[in-house]
Amino acid sequence: MTEHMAVDGDVDAIVVGAGPAGASAALELARAGKSVVLLERGPFPGAKNVYGGVVYGRVLDDVVPGWWEEVPVERWVVRRSTMVTSGDRAVSVDYRNPAWAAPPYNGMTTHRAEFDRWLAGKAVDAGAVLATSTTATGLLRDPAGRVVGVRTDRPDGDLRAGVVIACDGVNSFLAKDAGLLPRTDASHLTLGVKEVLALPREVIDQRFGVRGDEGVDIEILGCTRGIPGGGFLYTNAETVALGVVLSLPQLAEAKLRPEEIIAGLKAHPSIAPYIEGATLKEYGAHLIPEGGYDHMPRLAADGLLVAGDAAGMCLAAGIWLEGVNFAIGSGLAAGQAAAGALDAGDTSARGLSGYRSRLEDSFVLADHKRLRRAPALVLSERVQHRYPGLMTELAEGVFAVDNPRPKPGLVSLLRQAARRHDIRLRDLAADAVRAARVFR
Ligand SMILES: Cc1cc2nc3c(=O)[nH]c(=O)nc-3n(C[C@H](O)[C@H](O)[C@H](O)COP(=O)(O)OP(=O)(O)OC[C@H]3O[C@@H](n4cnc5c(N)ncnc54)[C@H](O)[C@@H]3O)c2cc1C
Repeated sequence: MTEHMAVDGDVDAIVVGAGPAGASAALELARAGKSVVLLERGPFPGAKNVYGGVVYGRVLDDVVPGWWEEVPVERWVVRRSTMVTSGDRAVSVDYRNPAWAAPPYNGMTTHRAEFDRWLAGKAVDAGAVLATSTTATGLLRDPAGRVVGVRTDRPDGDLRAGVVIACDGVNSFLAKDAGLLPRTDASHLTLGVKEVLALPREVIDQRFGVRGDEGVDIEILGCTRGIPGGGFLYTNAETVALGVVLSLPQLAEAKLRPEEIIAGLKAHPSIAPYIEGATLKEYGAHLIPEGGYDHMPRLAADGLLVAGDAAGMCLAAGIWLEGVNFAIGSGLAAGQAAAGALDAGDTSARGLSGYRSRLEDSFVLADHKRLRRAPALVLSERVQHRYPGLMTELAEGVFAVDNPRPKPGLVSLLRQAARRHDIRLRDLAADAVRAARVFR
């Protein structure tokens, strides 16, 4: 892998950021025969990238056929669980599919330092030049205001190109510089915080009920001390990743530190047995763009495209937290659209508009559009604060045996639990209809 700047003069394209979006954009451009430089501020791709741990690789099927033979994987996810906690209780929906332990697989846990390096390596193999330890510090513009390159922090400085693709992650500095992201709206951002905890492989196998390379993904609701968000617990080969995702403004208001919330999650009776005796190996925090379809920036300007988290493409809709596959999908579309615009000799915003239509035709904007109301529903007061209690109480009523009393009817259990958690049945029914519409 090329890790040093080796470019003299102009190139067809510059991609800023060698995360999954940038590596994918550079890969498509290089495969289309374009000269492309992929800039990464870290010492290698993925060096500093923080995420939970699960990548869904289907998006790679056509790009790297048989990718699962070579991708750096920790475990193949065969069990996906959604756990709703309230107080010290929990209700789970647990889905397991042994077919997910074999090609073509569904999801995998993987370390970003390895995965991002692997994916960027594909772009380099295709001819892209990777320049690490290089930060883009601003956009270069011609007198008409069109983007013609980037400024870097290297002594040899500026780099010019026909098109620049900003894949510099959430809160994109370049999208802001271009005026595409007018201001930071904290209400569309969450803070993701995670701990990596070491445990012997066989202990993980036993506790999570898996063997060999099988892994588990547990999403958790009701564990964030009243702050809208959720938690997760994923298995790697010899570590587990445990974390929380928290609404930024409400975290600030609550005056709680994320470590306190993680400590509470670790102590929960449904989580503690999984991690008992584990040692802390790593701690990381990073922002997540959760605004969805209605809060994405404009995606193109003259000479510039924006992809991945920089364009708010991460899908965070309750039981789904998928950023990497959406970053790859948008990066590929940006690379293809940029190559087409370069061929046509028109890299104006209009010439680059094929990017948006490619995204509309792919899962990236199709899923975002369909689930555009999901973040508001999932982060709503009732879903976050009242329904977890309702669900655990219903489960208690159904599963507790209270002889000599006869079993209570389900409807009366529901009424009782709703009353206790201050939920009107009318609101419950309205939310059910809303959920059916949001997730239709
Ligand atoms: C706690 C947490 C848990 C998550 N869990 C999951 C999960 O399990 N699965 C999932 O799919 N997604 C998850 N996500 C979301 C996922 O991490 C992102 O959606 C994804 O990384 C976006 O990829 P990207 O390429 O757009 O941006 P990034 O991965 O952020 O990459 C941006 C790259 O650009 C580089 N860069 C930034 N600025 C510059 C600059 N000026 N010059 C040069 N380089 C620059 C950075 O160093 C970085 O390498 C999680 C996120 C968090 C925070």
